[in-house]
Amino acid sequence: MARYTGAVCRLCRREGQKLFLKGERCYTGKCALSRRAYAPGQHGQARNKKASEYGKQLRTKQFAKRYYGVLEGQFYHYYEMATKMQGVTGENLLGLLESRLDNVVYRLGFASSRAQARQMVTQGHFTVNGRKVNIPSYLVKAGNVVAVKEASRSLGSVKAIVEATASRPTPKWLELNRDAMEAKIVAFPAREDIDLPIEETLIVELYSK
Ligand code: SF4
Repeated sequence: MARYTGAVCRLCRREGQKLFLKGERCYTGKCALSRRAYAPGQHGQARNKKASEYGKQLRTKQFAKRYYGVLEGQFYHYYEMATKMQGVTGENLLGLLESRLDNVVYRLGFASSRAQARQMVTQGHFTVNGRKVNIPSYLVKAGNVVAVKEASRSLGSVKAIVEATASRPTPKWLELNRDAMEAKIVAFPAREDIDLPIEETLIVELYSK
């Protein structure tokens, strides 16, 4: 599948917010956004135009897509799924994105970035309810148990990641047992438990035009 392969920090600078694409570096003073908090490109520092309503909706959608590392077609598919669910469409959309296995692996601290989580899932390092799942877009449900595959638990690289991410908070909808390297999905992610600094209603407005 086509993926963005350019310098990822440019994407954060373009959005003006952290997308957490570079693992632990994103949590340190080395983050490019702390050093150059303006858009990339020749006129990046000069850009100060007030965004139109459409511009704001578009930027919000781009931000969410890049945050979760999802391409347009797939993102729109989640939106369509969200419209068919009970409740608020924007909140459902974010809940679905959060429920992706690659995001869950990242949130649990089993990977230092979503990109790394995607790669590790594809390589078959994780199980859901005891069965190997190597599809990053797999949607977990309440009651599922996500675990690092037994054979992968002793890998030095996996141990190092788990150690390095130990101070990251775990969202309330996940019940993590760090020693056992497994977690239970307690509930569908609620909006207040998703630390995404966007107004998701802008995405719904954009798509419902
Ligand atoms: Fe974004 Fe991380 Fe780069 Fe900072 S270090 S600009 S958060 S990808």
